[in-house]
Amino acid sequence: MKQSFYDLNFSDFETVLRQNDLNDSAASLLFNWHYKKKEKAQCTTNIAKDSLVFIQDNFDFSLPEIDTVQESTKDRSVKFLFRLKDDHKVETVLIPFQKKYSICLSSQVGCAMNCSFCFTGKQGLKRNLTTSEMVGQFLQAWRWLAQNRPGEERILNIVFMGQGEPLHNFDAVKKACEIFLSQHGASIGFQKITISTAGYIPGLKRWSQEIPGVNLALSLHSPFEEKRNELIPINKKYPLDEVLKVVDQIPLGKKQFITYEYILIKDFNDSPEDAEKLGMILFGKSAYINLIPFNPFPDSHYQCPGLDTIEQFKAVLERFKIPTLIRGTKGDDVLAACGQLNSKQ
Ligand code: SAH
Repeated sequence: MKQSFYDLNFSDFETVLRQNDLNDSAASLLFNWHYKKKEKAQCTTNIAKDSLVFIQDNFDFSLPEIDTVQESTKDRSVKFLFRLKDDHKVETVLIPFQKKYSICLSSQVGCAMNCSFCFTGKQGLKRNLTTSEMVGQFLQAWRWLAQNRPGEERILNIVFMGQGEPLHNFDAVKKACEIFLSQHGASIGFQKITISTAGYIPGLKRWSQEIPGVNLALSLHSPFEEKRNELIPINKKYPLDEVLKVVDQIPLGKKQFITYEYILIKDFNDSPEDAEKLGMILFGKSAYINLIPFNPFPDSHYQCPGLDTIEQFKAVLERFKIPTLIRGTKGDDVLAACGQLNSKQ
């Protein structure tokens, strides 16, 4: 079976060419063609005949297919349902800001974390995505924009906040990041990529060694271990206290900070005492808090607090001088907001 071209980072691809006694200049040509120009057709120009034959014989250039596209009428968010080769499906969301976009990528089919507030968790884990399936979500969404919103094909940020726990699929996610970062291809900056985690310590430890420049978002959701156990079952194995110790050791650049995500659930974790304790544990850190009002999904038993409660929560955090943003809900009319992705419906 042919190997997917989109599973290899730049140096992997160069190595394959060299090992086969071919000129490795084809690597930058192909990376430029597929990741910078994002051409659909296979690159044939300027490549020596022997390399071209080798590439055509050994590499597959197919990508996940777009099954369904849902466009929000409220805010230009776009949700894609992709069909994978084995007929599994995953979702990807384009989140608009001005005429640019952030893309929210999935890293697994379903998720093993089983968080009580998340629609994806209800699916269970089916399998990890390959690097090419993650890179493919980006390329296909870009092409969709080029075709349907010409001039707007500007995806400036990549967030691994779709379906799955990215640090539970570390190798494939790391390789996808290397492809996005490569100067020969998409050339996306370190600070433009964010990986969000529920606090999976084995992945966090590798992170700090292997891809520290990429931004980290930690789904915190409660500063109290008991409550966090209820929300995020892996907290029993990897308690917040230990997670924060590992996160604190991640080397940060001058302008870099860790994002702490906090879902606000009515009458569960939205009181001034919760905010106070959250402020206390994050005080003095290079932290940025994203408050995410809970997004309901079919059969969810939690509710979103009212605006007053949300504002009060934010005000407490501001006393601790921690920059805090209330994340606006985008795309909720097409179930594209945080925690609403579930490709099994
Ligand atoms: N597994 C990773 C990334 C996926 S979820 C993680 O846990 O971080 C991306 C963000 O959406 C996380 O902060 C997650 O907690 C949040 N989220 C999940 N379900 C939600 C819901 N129903 N409402 C609001 N945010 C939700």
